[in-house]
Amino acid sequence: ARMDEGLQAAGWQATDSAQDADLVVLNTCHIREKATQKVRSALGRLRKDNPQAQVAVTGCVAQAEGDLLAPFADYVVGPQAIQHLPAMVANPQPTAMLSDDFAAAQKFDTLAVHRDEFGVRDFLTIQEGCDKFCTFCVVPYTRGPEFSRSARAILEEAKRMVAGGVRELVLLGQNVNGWHGEAPDGSAWRFGRLLLWLEEQLPELKRLSYTTSHPKDMHEEQYHAHAISEVLIPWLHLPVQSGSDGVLKRMNRHYDAAEYMRIIDRCRTARPDIAFSSDFIVAFPGETDADHVATLKLVREVGFASAYAFIFSPRPGAPAADYANDIAPQAAKQRLHGLQQVLGEFQQRFNSDQIGKQLSVILEKPGRKPEQWVARSPYMQAVHIGNLPGDGWAGQELNCRVTDTTTYGLVAEPLAA
Ligand code: SAM
Ligand code: SF4
Repeated sequence: ARMDEGLQAAGWQATDSAQDADLVVLNTCHIREKATQKVRSALGRLRKDNPQAQVAVTGCVAQAEGDLLAPFADYVVGPQAIQHLPAMVANPQPTAMLSDDFAAAQKFDTLAVHRDEFGVRDFLTIQEGCDKFCTFCVVPYTRGPEFSRSARAILEEAKRMVAGGVRELVLLGQNVNGWHGEAPDGSAWRFGRLLLWLEEQLPELKRLSYTTSHPKDMHEEQYHAHAISEVLIPWLHLPVQSGSDGVLKRMNRHYDAAEYMRIIDRCRTARPDIAFSSDFIVAFPGETDADHVATLKLVREVGFASAYAFIFSPRPGAPAADYANDIAPQAAKQRLHGLQQVLGEFQQRFNSDQIGKQLSVILEKPGRKPEQWVARSPYMQAVHIGNLPGDGWAGQELNCRVTDTTTYGLVAEPLAA
């Protein structure tokens, strides 16, 4: 979105088809190897289908593998330098590369939102970078050190977003609950305090959520915010990665399974209807069958409403890439499927439990069927609702009754307002 803003301001117009484009931007993620492979094949395909187009590779693959990509792209731009893309395109040089690490505050000056069109649900970055150094992860190397934006700067941007129609604000950060920024009076606040202040300052806001939290950064003020807030949704994405203490230690996660369960209990005490989602890595180097069983046990104990699971992907520069790993790819796939099956059962159960219940949803956009709208439940599920004629529903809050489930979401009927 930020690159789109910059390019549009410089006179570019977006097109839906890469084949018609004069400039193609491939924005990339480096978190797993698959993404890097996809960038390489997309580059090859683009060059064949539209040889005239200029191609920019941006994001974390550009940052980490710029030298390798340079022969195949016109521009290679790291995540902290994307605001320079319009100027680079205006003045083409033989493969221009930019991957500078800016001073932290400047990072956010250049990231500030300039658009005036927003979704009903939209995102605001409040924290960038990571100092945790989990042994599997490239983020500390591609995104640099952790930095928190000031509370005032966050509020200013949030006010503009709410004035532009945002009703559900999603705060973003690699470790969003590790946010520790300057308060309006110059003191230092933790994340939980920021949440309650934003709620107080933004009366038109209907929902507030945030992602991604790190278990180690969970704190009293955050639990307290969930206990008393009227806009925080009862949903928390809290990646655990593994249920085995040995694996968690080798991952450098700074908690064990028992501590994770204590955090879950603490959240439930604060907000009894809270639901959890998580991330898992299977086949981390040295993971045994017993470690995998420990992960399945934790999944059953928590009963996640949704979750993502990945096979460990060795990333260049991350320490675990050099750990001895004798898990056969077939065994890794089996563990992934086993875990995904259990996670899927819990997700289905969570969704089915909603049937017959009343929910307050926020309508986002028209659905595919006539008079159908797509909304979001307080648990982040997509909800399809029929019998809503007309087009003025975006941003409205609606009471509905859940009648059925789909693979990932819910079907509901409207109730009287
Ligand atoms: N900061 C968040 C945390 O600590 O939980 C996670 C951010 S990371 C961008 C998103 C997810 O990608 C992680 O939770 C992890 O499950 C997955 N991931 C990161 N590195 C990975 C790797 N090398 N192989 C497989 N999955 C990985
Ligand atoms: Fe990566 Fe998250 Fe660990 Fe930071 S805390 S190193 S972003 S997995």
